[in-house]
Amino acid sequence: MSRIYLDNASTTPVLPIVADQMYTILQEHYGNPSSIHAHGRKTRAIIEEARKKVARIINASVGEVFFTSSATEANNLVLKNIVSDRGIRRIISCRTEHHCVLHSLEYVARTTNCVVEYLDVDDKGRLDYAVLEQSLSTCTGPVLVSLMFGNNEIGTLHDAELIGQICHKHKALFHCDAVQALGKLPVDVQKLGAHYLSGSAHKFHGPKGSGIAFISGDAMLSPLLHGGAQERNMRAGTENVAGIAGLATALEWCAEHREEHQRLIHSLKQQFRGLLQEGIPQVAFNGADGPESLAHILSVAFPPHPGDELLVMNLDIAGISVSSGSACSSGIEEDSHVLTAIGHDSARKTIRFSFSALNTASEVEEAARKVIQLIKS
Ligand code: PLP
Repeated sequence: MSRIYLDNASTTPVLPIVADQMYTILQEHYGNPSSIHAHGRKTRAIIEEARKKVARIINASVGEVFFTSSATEANNLVLKNIVSDRGIRRIISCRTEHHCVLHSLEYVARTTNCVVEYLDVDDKGRLDYAVLEQSLSTCTGPVLVSLMFGNNEIGTLHDAELIGQICHKHKALFHCDAVQALGKLPVDVQKLGAHYLSGSAHKFHGPKGSGIAFISGDAMLSPLLHGGAQERNMRAGTENVAGIAGLATALEWCAEHREEHQRLIHSLKQQFRGLLQEGIPQVAFNGADGPESLAHILSVAFPPHPGDELLVMNLDIAGISVSSGSACSSGIEEDSHVLTAIGHDSARKTIRFSFSALNTASEVEEAARKVIQLIKS
């Protein structure tokens, strides 16, 4: 039985062209990029080539792209020092951000005198931009707005361009966690008016352990990690050369095929959604739909059913990998912070199905058939 992978919002399979390139680098180009000899110059050139590719795709200057170990690190880098570096007195974020943003903000609130405010969302996970405006209009000192591009659990998109415009109007800095959008949707830091943006290679068919932080030239920060002068003193530590090259190659591949992939992923999601609606009449879906939603994420709220606590496990046994929409703390399943924020009905079990351009219509059909079978059993 070949397994079906529908957990692409967690991580994606590495592309063969990326794996091949990384293998060659690991085998042949092992010089330390900080060394001045030929081995070192070669790996330095690989990194700078990757930086150029990323900068071109997100419309940044090469000096504004920094390679990190993950988007978690990139978000920590931006959020932890911004209070002291840029005199930020207030941060406006949202309850549905990823934990690496929320927990960093909790840390900031605990260790500085900066006030952190969390915007609510509606039952689809959407922001009220008038509330953001209202909140910004009451701010007196320097402010940071930290809002994600698209939600990783329910797929709802924020209007990041509008957020950028609102920030610009109120002279606020804008940090955008673009992890679920980068490689799938156009992410142009100029159009967004973003000062800071994060991305992660393993979400777009690159390797794990490789991320980027975009830091605008007019809003530079001090480093999170101290040590050597790597990444122009922004991120100490010997570079993950193969990971950096893999990130850039994967991002380039996604950018080249973006429209075709988006069409395919959208049709897979619609096919899956339609099959579930036919087979399970009371099924419901969390989050926004259509253009307000990331095409690759479908959060399904199943009608109460005796075996629903075991659904993810039973799907796993049936050969389908998916994620549950709950957080499991001390053995008790609870709705995640995102489901809580949208007022999800906790009697319904939520499962996140997420697609990539490497999935096929026949996989989707097979997965839907197995899901329906399990729900009806
Ligand atoms: N932000 C969002 C929206 C994510 O979905 C994720 C990963 O799931 C992260 C940040 C963290 O990314 P990384 O795995 O690179 O630390």
